[in-house]
Formats: sequence, structure tokens, C-alpha cells
Amino acid sequence: MALITKKIKGTEDVLPSQSYRWQFIENIMREESAAYGFREIRTPVFEHTELFARGVGQTTDVVQKEMYTFDTKGGESVTLRPEGTAGAARAVIEHALENEGLPIKASYFVSCYRYEKPQAGRLREFHQFGVEEYGTQSAVADAEIICLAQSIIKRLGIDGVRLELNSIGCPECRAKYNQALCEYYTQYKDRLCGTCLSRLEKNPMRLLDCKSPQDRELVENAPKITDYLCEECETHFKEVQSYLDCAGVDYIINPYIVRGLDYYTKTVFEFVTDCIGAQGTVCAGGRYDGLIEELGGKHLPSLGFAMGLERTLMVMDAQDIGIPKPMPCALYIATMGDAAKKKAFSVLREVREFGLTAETDVVGRGLRAQMKYADKIGAKFSMVLGDNEIAENRAKVKNMESGKQTVLALDETFAGEFSDLFLVSNEAFGDIKDFAAQFSGFFDTLSE
Ligand code: ATP
Ligand code: MG
Repeated sequence: MALITKKIKGTEDVLPSQSYRWQFIENIMREESAAYGFREIRTPVFEHTELFARGVGQTTDVVQKEMYTFDTKGGESVTLRPEGTAGAARAVIEHALENEGLPIKASYFVSCYRYEKPQAGRLREFHQFGVEEYGTQSAVADAEIICLAQSIIKRLGIDGVRLELNSIGCPECRAKYNQALCEYYTQYKDRLCGTCLSRLEKNPMRLLDCKSPQDRELVENAPKITDYLCEECETHFKEVQSYLDCAGVDYIINPYIVRGLDYYTKTVFEFVTDCIGAQGTVCAGGRYDGLIEELGGKHLPSLGFAMGLERTLMVMDAQDIGIPKPMPCALYIATMGDAAKKKAFSVLREVREFGLTAETDVVGRGLRAQMKYADKIGAKFSMVLGDNEIAENRAKVKNMESGKQTVLALDETFAGEFSDLFLVSNEAFGDIKDFAAQFSGFFDTLSE
């Protein structure tokens, strides 16, 4: 029978042979964000529609045309999260997390859903890592999250990503700026694409984010927000830059970056690369001082960023960045007969307690087929258990690469002995050896 249906357009499967790549980047994101004091928050994949309508903003592309919204059987309108900020912000307000002290710092891994045209770097289900910080106005916080994003990118081994920085001011600066933008764009009204015409009326700043080539040209001569910042916003922007200078983080000011959310204020930034085509923004973020109040909470100035995991992996692929392979199967036990099967079962449990991957036949193959399978999964060592081995209470463990065999007793010492054998002979642990060598040099200098 043919497969009854295939995966939905714009979605991807992560297969067992590939998931280590995701885990590798996720671990780095977890470790780095923990070093900056962020702890993970997990929120539901769907929320009441009005949360996103308010939290992302009515005039955004996301709310206007990209949301997966449906009515439940109970007649409620719910939406699959298109991004991670609104859900986190709702949880912060709902659980009054401000009582636990400010700032509140949360990180997340989320799957997001947007009805967009699928293309390279643009999916309908995609994944983000993000951080959110609530309850600080300070420019240090802006600089800190930018540094965090930069250290993640650096630790992943990614090169050639530029940090573009801007300030989009506060509602006051923006009112003046929007007026200037309207005046500028009204001159070219008959050249604008349909979406931009409606932006001109509803949210002129979004004109700068238009992806159509003819409108991009207009952006180049448009008024710059940086010429319209009030004193407070100007000072804040300068301060963010001075902290970044202090940390040695390179950036370029791009007065034309704006963000998708309506409630962004002051700092906005993007980490952009040219190596994966048109969808080159790997990470984007900034400040949204009005968001929590907009959602019915107290005044809690906030900021954060989100990093696209698919795009991050695409960049790593494009740059040929090797991702360490997971630990292979350390020991495969091939068995002959029932007694051997039972023995293998208990030996394996002990080996696994040493943190090693160990497997045996679970499909009832013959000996030859079992060995073929051991080879296929790249087992580092194999061992054949039959009646003889059980009678003698020892067995030969074979290094599959060198063919070298070592006899080990099949008693309670087995797992420990095997784990030593594995660690010493496996070059996957080469860096442990290098590390030990460095240290022996270090001890030599001490004893001199
Ligand atoms: P873009 O301008 O590329 O549409 P955006 O402003 O809509 O991005 P954000 O909402 O800021 O994106 O999301 C943060 C990050 O999530 C992006 O920088 C990108 O890495 C990733 N991302 C956004 N939309 C998608 C998508 N449809 N498919 C894959 N990744 C995405
Ligand atoms: Mg988008």
C-alpha cells in the first residue's frame, strides 16, 4: 500500500541520523545562555488568538496573513504560535514573575508556525531559540543579549555574520519619523506594491522592510530614524554602542532595519549572513518596552532575540562546519542460543551504566547477519557469545577496526574493563588524549 499522505508543505522531518546536529547547536545555546543567567521557559504551542493579535501587532505580516488560526470545538479562536515572545510574556504576567525579582530572564526553544511561501530558509513550521528579559531599561541589558547572541554564533564556528544595529526610538520619536516617512513615500505612491500602500496608511515604518526589489530602491533614500531620536533614545543608543565597543563586538549601524513586531522600541538588531541566499537573517531581536503593558501587565521594559535553528544549520552547512558525531555503538554483542541471549541482556545493562552505547540482536538474526549489522551501525567493538563463552565465563572482545582481540572475564568486572578498553583505543576520544598530553607537559614544568 502506498503511503497514505506525505508531510505538510513547508515542514521538515529531523531524522535519527541528523538529530545530533540539532542537539549540538541546542546544547551550545543552552550553555551560553545559562552563562548569562537565562533559565528555560516552556509555554504551550497554541494560545488564544488575541494574544498574538495584540502581542505581535495587528499591522504585522505575521498577524495579517501568516497565522495558523482555527476555532476549537468549544468555539474559541486559537492560534499556533508564530513566535516565542508573546507566550513567554503572557506567562510572565500570568504567574506574576516580577515578584521573584527583576529582571526576569528566560530562554526558550520553540517550534513556530507561519503560513508563508516555503523556500530556502523559509518554512511553515520552523524552530527558534530565543531569550527574553523583562524589567530593565538599562543599555547594559541590550548589550548583554547582543553579546550572548554573538558568543553563540562564535562558538558554533560560524564566520562572516555581520551585526546590524539600529534604534527605532520610542513612540514620540516615531510619531515624527512616521510623518517624515509618509511625506517621502507619498511622492512615490504610484510605484509602491500593494502591501506597501496599506503600510503607508497603517504602519509606515514597515515600508522599510519591504522585500520587493523596486521598493528596496526607495528605502535607500528614505529619511533615517536615527535623525529623529529624542534625547533619551539617542543616549540609550549611544550607551548600547559603548558597551558593545567595550566588549569588542563589531557592528554596523543600519538605520533601515525595523522589526516585525509592532511594540519594538529603541534597540533593534539583526545578525545577517550572505552565505545562504536571500533569507540571511540568522538572529533578530531588540527591545519592546511597551509589550508587557500592551498585554495587560505592569510597566516592565523588556528585550530579547530569536535565532532561527534551521537557518543556523544552513549557515553551518554552507560554511562546512563539522559537527562532532555522537558516540557510536561501543559494543555490539552477537549471540547464539538462549543462554547467550540472557547473558548478553545483563552484560549490556552493566555496560550501559558506564554511559556507553551497547546493543545486541533484537530481531532474531543469524550470527553472520548480526555481525553485518554491527558493521553497519559502526560498532567499535563486537563480542560473540555462545555456549562455550558462557561455560568458560569469558569472551573475546574484538576491535572492529584493527581486528585486535582482548579476552575479558564475563563477571562483574566486565563493564569496567570494557569501558577502559574502549576509552583507550577509540580515537573519537583523541581530544581527551591531547588534553592528557597537555597536562603531562604541565606537570613536567611543575616538577622542574
Ligand atoms: P524575515 O525577515 O526573514 O521574515 P522575521 O522578521 O519574520 O524574519 P522574526 O520573527 O524576527 O523573523 O524571527 C526570528 C528568526 O526566526 C529569523 O531571523 C529567522 O532566523 C527565523 N525565521 C523567521 N521566519 C522563518 C521561517 N518562515 N522559516 C525559517 N526561519 C524563520
Ligand atoms: Mg517574516
